[in-house]
Amino acid sequence: MKDHENQNCYYCGGERFEERRVRYIYNRDENNLFVPDMPADVCLNCGMVYYHGPALLKVEQRFKAIYQNKEKPDRYTTLPVMDYV
Ligand SMILES: [Zn+2]
Repeated sequence: MKDHENQNCYYCGGERFEERRVRYIYNRDENNLFVPDMPADVCLNCGMVYYHGPALLKVEQRFKAIYQNKEKPDRYTTLPVMDYV
């Protein structure tokens, strides 16, 4: 995803964002990885969430490692959980 920094919100044209931790579920091929504290920028006007490129990459790598049985999830509820640190 393109870095929106110094740009307006793609949806509403808003200029103000706030960094928050949001709930994110990565899924591919019917497999899921739940990240309860994913860092993202949220548009203060419309609430659109912009995930950070490096964070998305990190989750994707962790997802692959877990499903290739190279790593274990941090927790497991109904979905495997990755704590974003
Ligand atoms: Zn917006």
